[in-house]
Amino acid sequence: MSYHVNEKGYYGDFGGAYIPEMLYPNVQELQQQYKRITATAEFKKSFDDLLKDYVGRPTPLYFAQRLSEKYQTKLYLKREDLCHTGAHKVNNTIGQILLAKALGKNRIIAETGAGQHGVATATVCALMGIQCVVYMGAVDIQRQAPNVARMKMLGAEVRPAQSGSKTLKDATNEAIRDWINNPVDTHYIIGSVVGPHPYPDMVARFQSVISEEIQQQLREKEGRDYPDHLIACVGGGSNAAGAYYHYLDNPKVNIIAVEAAGIGIDTGASAATSVLGKEGIIHGSKTLLMQTPDGQIIEPYSISAGLDYPGVGPMHAHLFRSGRAEFIAATDDEAMTAGLTLSQLEGIIPAIETAHAFAILEHRPFQPDEVVVINLSGRGDKDLNTYIDYFKL
Ligand SMILES: *Cc1c(COP(=O)(O)O)cnc(C)c1O
Repeated sequence: MSYHVNEKGYYGDFGGAYIPEMLYPNVQELQQQYKRITATAEFKKSFDDLLKDYVGRPTPLYFAQRLSEKYQTKLYLKREDLCHTGAHKVNNTIGQILLAKALGKNRIIAETGAGQHGVATATVCALMGIQCVVYMGAVDIQRQAPNVARMKMLGAEVRPAQSGSKTLKDATNEAIRDWINNPVDTHYIIGSVVGPHPYPDMVARFQSVISEEIQQQLREKEGRDYPDHLIACVGGGSNAAGAYYHYLDNPKVNIIAVEAAGIGIDTGASAATSVLGKEGIIHGSKTLLMQTPDGQIIEPYSISAGLDYPGVGPMHAHLFRSGRAEFIAATDDEAMTAGLTLSQLEGIIPAIETAHAFAILEHRPFQPDEVVVINLSGRGDKDLNTYIDYFKL
């Protein structure tokens, strides 16, 4: 049994492409072309060169001495926080902009919630000299002013979504509407392992450079290419998918996914999508999502803007349902404390999303001789104000 996507775009019961008929041509073009284009020597060379010289890969696998002493196990941190733009998201946008160019597209659209994916998209559009339109909920534009400024500085147009709750799902609806109206010249860069097939698989493949590097780095440091435990935080699931990718079918590796429990799983204010979710369709794929008994999407909550997505990618829904991965939820308070601990023990200020992955160390013990890798998905500069308010620094 494999945990990778099948020919039809499914991970077990989850995935597929549930889209309006108007989107068929765009999505079908991608389904038919993405594997062929990304397998060409020309694509691979451009992708590898940019990841190396522009993004700064390979990112280090760092043995965290003091954190390991505190938690009595061997902890390695995969330093995606050192990527250009401060997180893993740029691995995906580099891949998709090269794909868009190969498909002859000269205009890019994207959706963004907290603005991190918008910034990563605006960055690669500037790099390639391609027009960029980012849809963002009007409420999010108010809340995330620094990222809006970054996108504008990079030359992107930020269009406010004024419908519904004026947040991420409304921005996504606007982006889809734009794509329907501009099917020929426009590519839609989705920011996580969500959306209709082939997006979840395509994004996972671009992010899989993370686990490819971990294999090589562990071989050098530990004499074997796999860890005993592999931990990542999950919003839509892209940094986790990249960290898991080459280990999905290796039963020796215990995969751990950390979701945001917000104020607490049972409080109604959380983003613990897998545990609380029911089967449903969101943004073009069948997955687990938080919904009312009559199928209305429940607004998620987390102190970290990058984790409060009401659904989770179909790969992760399958990892949860099949029992392949261990799912743990961390609260706002646990994550904030873990962020402070990592800062003061290792001199690394993590993104609050990332801090959720570290929070489980308090409750989930590991053996002293076990090798544990945590994907350090991003840095905390963007979250300084939240940390300052929370700790009254
Ligand atoms: C966006 C983001 C996440 C959540 O997105 P995934 O697709 O689940 O990876 C996690 N960490 C950081 C630093 C982010 O910017």
